[in-house]
Amino acid sequence: MPETTAPVLIVGAGPTGLVLALWLTRLGVTIRIIDRAERPGTTSRALAVQARTLEFYRQIGIADDAVAGGVKVPAINLWVSGRPRARVRIDAIGEGLSPFAFALVYPQDAHERMLSDHLERAGIRVERETELVRLEQRVDGVSATLRTQTGEEQFQTSYVAGCDGASSTVRHQLGIEFPGGTYQGYFYVADVHAGGPLVNDELHVDIEDADFLLVFPLKGAGNLRLVGLVHGSEKPDHAVTFDDVKSRAVDRMQLSNAKVNWFSTYRVHHRVAPRFRDGRAFLLGDAAHVHSPVGGQGMNTGIGDAVNLAWKLAAVLKGEAGAAILDTYETERIAFARRLVETTDRGFTIVTRQGSVARTVRTRLVPVIAPPAFRFPAIRRLLFRTVSQINVSYHDSALSEGTTGAVVAGDRLPWIRTNGSDNFAPLASLRWQVHVYGRARNELEAECSALGVELYEFVWNEAARDAGVREGALYLVRPDGYVGLADADADVSRLRTYLRCVRR
Ligand SMILES: Cc1cc2nc3c(=O)[nH]c(=O)nc-3n(C[C@H](O)[C@H](O)[C@H](O)COP(=O)(O)OP(=O)(O)OC[C@H]3O[C@@H](n4cnc5c(N)ncnc54)[C@H](O)[C@@H]3O)c2cc1C
Repeated sequence: MPETTAPVLIVGAGPTGLVLALWLTRLGVTIRIIDRAERPGTTSRALAVQARTLEFYRQIGIADDAVAGGVKVPAINLWVSGRPRARVRIDAIGEGLSPFAFALVYPQDAHERMLSDHLERAGIRVERETELVRLEQRVDGVSATLRTQTGEEQFQTSYVAGCDGASSTVRHQLGIEFPGGTYQGYFYVADVHAGGPLVNDELHVDIEDADFLLVFPLKGAGNLRLVGLVHGSEKPDHAVTFDDVKSRAVDRMQLSNAKVNWFSTYRVHHRVAPRFRDGRAFLLGDAAHVHSPVGGQGMNTGIGDAVNLAWKLAAVLKGEAGAAILDTYETERIAFARRLVETTDRGFTIVTRQGSVARTVRTRLVPVIAPPAFRFPAIRRLLFRTVSQINVSYHDSALSEGTTGAVVAGDRLPWIRTNGSDNFAPLASLRWQVHVYGRARNELEAECSALGVELYEFVWNEAARDAGVREGALYLVRPDGYVGLADADADVSRLRTYLRCVRR
């Protein structure tokens, strides 16, 4: 059996594994990425790419490609039993909160192709038809048994990233459970080409008794994604076809000449692994958590896991941080995954609950209340903050220290426009950096240079005040754009102590 090595083995080349590979490669870490499938996925699956994901992509220079590949959705139309009831604009719903203030639909297959292309340009190819079958951990590394087209191979690595989806082999090998359950009802998803009033690049939501239909715009005139519940079919899941569900979409929503490009049914699970790490092996993405697609969070959460782990692994491998920093991956990401499963669970229950009260709320109350509510800036902002994942924070992390103005350490750095640019531009270095809005204290420059962190001084302006930062305060920003230390006094000794702890 041949024996080979690399510091990080990434198991699984879905969106989670691909982003982890890209980020680590950008940080100069040698990786190996394998996938047991013969070829990349060819189906659209997850559609929503949230603003926080695009912010991460901007850091590694791929956001423009994602935006160009997708469709920006300008409005949501609410229908009740096939009748249009309300339309709300969402084209600039996150104005002032993120450089990506819109809702983006980008099918997962095209998205994965874009990520793979960038990885190949960086000199890394996904090794296909290569499956992880066994893991053995030692104190100083991990021994992985891989099944390749030419037989079994023994691979030695420092760390293993399990990005291998809901039935993760890495999770099984680590003996980590996957508690939770499966919802009773199940969905269909159909990518169709059709005509009719719904073909206008907007999102359409039709609600009725105990049912709903979502119609997403896809790239190319007439291309749509339908998502709905399968009702009253006696057939097993895999035998259900578009013909069994199409009457609602075609007749009620007036789709004409609908041709199906892809049809699938799927059951929704809600599960979170109790641990995201065992020694030198980590779980990320669907391997660690699965939940209902309400709010389009699943894939984006996996990408968030990948970014969170990438810079920490790179720092440890390069000797820039102590191994203790790896403990913060689980603390930070498991808390968010648990909250997410709870909220998407509630959302899923609301949209699928049967009974007269639920029906009245969905079909009478929501169409009346939602449009005026949407006009309140505070409600629009809250909705954007929550769905876009810019609100994800790590307040309880060992890496979070201090509060200054409205910024609590562990928050994502608030986005602030500056003259002709913004405060997110420097995040492309993927390095720790100190931000000061207003004049920095004299000794800060010398201290940052001695500590090997970048210092950025931004003009103090109205946008900074509105974002809740404090003039002259020190914000130490992590490589993933979260605030590690917030200090109103910009005390250099506090900065020194913080970084010493990280590096120990
Ligand atoms: C029909 C369908 C519709 C969906 N719709 C939505 C939606 O609308 N919104 C949403 O947010 N999410 C949706 N999802 C979920 C979304 O696709 C997942 O959340 C996302 O793919 C998770 O990415 P991942 O990289 O973590 O895992 P995956 O995409 O599952 O990738 C895991 C990879 O690991 C590989 N692998 C597995 N085991 C091994 C092994 N032992 N060795 C090597 N490789 C291995 C697999 O081949 C696979 O390529 C949908 C899923 C399906 C199936």
